[in-house]
Amino acid sequence: MGNPKAFLTINRKEAGYRPVLERIEDFGEVEQTLNTEDRMLQASRCMDCGVPFCHWACPVSNRMPEWQDALYKGKWQEAYEIVSATNNFPEFTGRVCPALCEKSCVLALQDMPVTIRENEAAIVERAFQEGYIKPNPPQKRTGKKVAVVGSGPAGLAAADMLNRKGHNVTVFEKDELSGGLLRLGIPDFKLNKKIIDRRIKLLEAEGIVFINNVEAGKDISTPELLKNFDALCLCIGAGKPRDLPVEGRELKGIHFALQLLRQQNRWVRGTEVPPKERIGIENKHVLVIGGGDTGSDCVGTSVRRKAASVTQIEILPMPPRKENPLTPWPLYPNVLKTSTSHQEGCTRRWSLATQRFVGNNGHLSGVEVVDTQTGVAEIIPADLVFLSMGFVHPVHEGLADELGLLYDTRGNIAVTTTSQTSVDKVFVAGDAHLGAGLVVRAIDSGRRAAQAIHAKITL
Ligand SMILES: Cc1cc2nc3c(=O)[nH]c(=O)nc-3n(C[C@H](O)[C@H](O)[C@H](O)COP(=O)(O)OP(=O)(O)OC[C@H]3O[C@@H](n4cnc5c(N)ncnc54)[C@H](O)[C@@H]3O)c2cc1C
Repeated sequence: MGNPKAFLTINRKEAGYRPVLERIEDFGEVEQTLNTEDRMLQASRCMDCGVPFCHWACPVSNRMPEWQDALYKGKWQEAYEIVSATNNFPEFTGRVCPALCEKSCVLALQDMPVTIRENEAAIVERAFQEGYIKPNPPQKRTGKKVAVVGSGPAGLAAADMLNRKGHNVTVFEKDELSGGLLRLGIPDFKLNKKIIDRRIKLLEAEGIVFINNVEAGKDISTPELLKNFDALCLCIGAGKPRDLPVEGRELKGIHFALQLLRQQNRWVRGTEVPPKERIGIENKHVLVIGGGDTGSDCVGTSVRRKAASVTQIEILPMPPRKENPLTPWPLYPNVLKTSTSHQEGCTRRWSLATQRFVGNNGHLSGVEVVDTQTGVAEIIPADLVFLSMGFVHPVHEGLADELGLLYDTRGNIAVTTTSQTSVDKVFVAGDAHLGAGLVVRAIDSGRRAAQAIHAKITL
């Protein structure tokens, strides 16, 4: 701990965001960066607590106090080495993690936690700039072959760890590009896709084989996979969206959130979206059903696509603005979150349950909702609805059912011991097992699965 008084003398300083009127004109990342001097000063605010709650709250058990100290002292490479010892992809979490660590930082008690997430992003970007992140293929190959199915953060982390052990890793991905929800879910204004391309290039140079546009269980059969590989690691995500099967669901204009976000991410990349699949948003009244992060991404996307109005509704009551006695520090607080997308222009409403969709000539014109507190019903006019109520579990049809996997009571892929499914040689990681969650949890889960697979195939 370089400066034991910094937390008393230096305030939290965030890099901030590009001005709203500028950023809604493009899909570039909204977050800005701090200058080097300020960044190091922010690191000096870490108190190196006897019990580092940040470390405890972090799913990958990042060693924050150690790398904050290195950063404060300008030892950028050392800081990177500590960060990357527990996190394969700090460039992803440094951008999109909700930073559980910051919520449990002791300085959060004064509302001024250390800027841990931003510091992490700065360290990894510096590491790329200075060239000490470079391909580091394993010295020896074991001859063992592992198939990773799905290239989201769980699959990438598992592949990376197994490759480092010298196993031959092939990643099968049904989409045209690797990255899972990082690529086709999370919008570019939160995560520029060049960041994913940069990492995939590195993993390829280290020897991982990526095969895209191949759906395991369909384009490559399940028996073939089991025969050709010593182990399978299923990282197929929680792809089944929660539907809202009420009257009028068949009307035109009602889409799952990911239909919009996948299309938008492809569009930003320059991929032509066939005209009949395009969701026209300009001058439309948009209603986003579901008050979470996916909904917020639909808000930001709709604003950029020049919707006439954007409203987001949530069935639960509005959470407290600041403190919630049900989730006291150091727990992750269930309090009102206002994302950058919300700041860009959106009406937010709570305690509204959807009763039915109403329409004219087969097209949506409004949504009847009822206030769960007062019982009063109303119709919110809407031309477009994006259903953003989360995901129920992984897709069972195809690979998972064919393998005869057991599911838990929520429909996620069940494990017997760490990451091992009910079928020999078949492991699971990420949302497919944990349920829809966070990038950082998926990375951790991928790391754990890799450990279990390594132990199994080198017995
Ligand atoms: C819109 C949205 C925004 C989000 N924003 C954030 C955020 O800001 N911060 C955060 O921490 N988390 C966020 N999340 C959650 C986070 O993206 C996920 O928790 C994480 O990506 C899960 O990783 P995963 O590797 O388990 O699965 P996924 O990322 O879902 O990847 C699964 C991959 O498997 C592939 N696949 C599935 N079946 C097959 C098959 N049979 N053969 C081949 N490939 C297959 C899929 O195509 C997909 O690419 C967001 C989620 C969504 C939907």
